[in-house]
Amino acid sequence: MPGFESIIDQQKPIGILRALLEQSAVAHALLFTGIDGVGKQTTGRLFAMAVNCESYLENTNSRVSADSAPCGQCVSCRKIISGNHPDVLHIQPQGNLIRIDQIRALGRTLAMKPYEARYRVAMISDAHRMNPESANALLKMLEEPPEQTLLVLTASETSDLLPTVVSRCQRVRFNPISIPGICRELVSHCNLSPDVARVVAAMAGGSMGRAIAMSRSDWLERRNWLVRELAGLRQAPISVGLALAQRLAQDKDRLAESLEVMLSWFRDRLVRLYGSGKIINQDLISLPDWGSQNENPEMLLTKIRAVRAAEKAVAANANLRLTIEGLILRLSEN
Ligand SMILES: [Zn+2]
Repeated sequence: MPGFESIIDQQKPIGILRALLEQSAVAHALLFTGIDGVGKQTTGRLFAMAVNCESYLENTNSRVSADSAPCGQCVSCRKIISGNHPDVLHIQPQGNLIRIDQIRALGRTLAMKPYEARYRVAMISDAHRMNPESANALLKMLEEPPEQTLLVLTASETSDLLPTVVSRCQRVRFNPISIPGICRELVSHCNLSPDVARVVAAMAGGSMGRAIAMSRSDWLERRNWLVRELAGLRQAPISVGLALAQRLAQDKDRLAESLEVMLSWFRDRLVRLYGSGKIINQDLISLPDWGSQNENPEMLLTKIRAVRAAEKAVAANANLRLTIEGLILRLSEN
């Protein structure tokens, strides 16, 4: 398993962690914030390895740079990689919540000495999923930190957590990953062609995790299908539009994704009309419908607004079928 260099586009957070390592100034609690799929968990595990890495610790007196940690080879590193280190603990939401029982059980474990680690590491993923009781139980732990223990919390935003929890952690902010960064990874590790990788990377919203999930699913086929359906709407009888609306509304879990594809499609056409900005769906540019006649900016803007309004309505729990039918009818005009 590679070291910190495997984390894409996070030079700043990695720099902070390496500095902590070099100064042997590891805080009691770290809070990693950032959207899903940008490397928070992997970095947490690498940091747990680094603070316990036997070959790095042996050399700290000779001022070896923290760049060499973790080694990935020593007994401690290998135990963490395989998930078998008794002092590296991981709390995750059960269902939607991190429950107070989980935090209490963690507290009981942390009250005892570590088995073998220099630093015991407890990762709490999606810490914003703690209910107030769990958060207060964790707060007590942060107020009286157990010895030789490092807590690593991950969350999307600090605003999702109790301010008292945030203030007791050293915050490390992870950025969304750049489109070229995601693209390179998709081409070299997910077997995507550069053309397709660019589209997926542009639609992944800065999340490597999401990009990988998209590349492993039928996202691309579905986008192609949806764009073809949209392109045919203007000539099709109303029943075809209503059937499309029904299909989209029924596939509730993927509705947000479908609306995103629609937005990107109309946005691309607008960008193309103005001749400025980056086109997301580059690979579809040669479709016959792409440069459809009589297309004008006002028409495209109206469609974009209609999709945005539908997104809002869906988020506000409006009737899905009615919302999407209304949207498709609006998109069929002109
Ligand atoms: Zn090691």
